[in-house]
Amino acid sequence: MVENLTTSLPFIEGRGAIVCRGCLGENLFSALDLGSVPIANELLVLQDSQIEKFPLHLRVCTSCGLGQVADVVTPERIFRDYRYLSSMSSTFLQHAFDFVTERVNSGILELGDWVLEIASNDGYLLKNFTPHGIKAIGVEPAENVAEISRTLGIETVSEFFSSKLASDLLSTYGYPKLIIANNVMAHVPDLEDFIKGLRILTGPSTQISIENPSLANILIGMQFDTIYHEHYSYLSANAVQKICDIHGLQLFKVEELTIHGGSNRYWLQLQNGCYSTDSSVGKVIRFEVENRLFDPAEWNTYASKVSKILQEFQNWLRTGKSQGNSIYGYGAAAKASTILNSIEINPNLVISIADVSLEKQKRFMPPHGIKIISPEELFKQNPTDIIIFPWNIKREIATFLRANLGEQVRLWCAIPEMCQVEN
Ligand SMILES: [Zn+2]
Repeated sequence: MVENLTTSLPFIEGRGAIVCRGCLGENLFSALDLGSVPIANELLVLQDSQIEKFPLHLRVCTSCGLGQVADVVTPERIFRDYRYLSSMSSTFLQHAFDFVTERVNSGILELGDWVLEIASNDGYLLKNFTPHGIKAIGVEPAENVAEISRTLGIETVSEFFSSKLASDLLSTYGYPKLIIANNVMAHVPDLEDFIKGLRILTGPSTQISIENPSLANILIGMQFDTIYHEHYSYLSANAVQKICDIHGLQLFKVEELTIHGGSNRYWLQLQNGCYSTDSSVGKVIRFEVENRLFDPAEWNTYASKVSKILQEFQNWLRTGKSQGNSIYGYGAAAKASTILNSIEINPNLVISIADVSLEKQKRFMPPHGIKIISPEELFKQNPTDIIIFPWNIKREIATFLRANLGEQVRLWCAIPEMCQVEN
């Protein structure tokens, strides 16, 4: 049963034309169909609870190059009670600290300027501006997460970012010098209104920084487990440039980052703004075209490769179980949900999944109710093999696991193919 269908948004499967939420074009091709799966971060309270499933089908717009899945589920359902805290990963904390230090050292921010972060989560990034005396305001719709940010002294608006909210912020505070939107544009079903909001808040010297895993990495790095319902859009430099152009903004620089297994940081300003266009924009766009990111035939080949990886993962689990191995998972993240729900998994193939999040512990991963336990509980078991689902921070996790379980435990990642994590 599909509930909570949104009716006012452009990209809706099964309700007439499919329209690109970036450029409103109507030519989208099928890139990867993962069937019907549960929402990634909706964990079961009881092991045998019923779970709803929704289609998960990546399409790419031939006009602008935006990858996207249908918005069958409302953001309210996904983000009002969000269980992902950025501060849980030391990798992300360091990344945020480095970003703020770079901005402050660049000399662009002056006393009296203010910085806006959209989807500011638990304040993991904005807290770094406080020692420099720069005012920072966060927008974070998940009330439970926003509250943590407020305890750090960060003014946080608990709403979804929109053109309406942008107008309110502008009339109260004026133009921010810097707008940060990390890993949020992917989560916005009404992208048009979101970008209108960015445009409203962009003054003559405002810079906008947008970080997002790139569509190129899904294709080239086989990162299909980063496709899930809450990621409505999958950005490319091509798409960002074209969509910004529609709304009077300009992409003037692209930085290629290693975080999240490969993200792009897109820098925007007003069209014909004061910052000169960097050669990185043309370079990244050429790379995307040369790697056939917008070619249906390339994605067709990709779909076959994904099927093979899923089959290998399934075979590995079954063989391991038949050999008497004790297989556990680590990291009950959305990535785990996508891959586990895309295979035919029998109950008990993965005994439990350990996760540091107290919010996730004692819940169960659908569809077969794999129990989520604390790392301490995992250390009391005798695992022979552990699959690290968040491969993007596998080194950090592997170091932690080896420190507590010793060298004999075998650590694995299933993406981009089944392989052991080296020490
Ligand atoms: Zn488009």
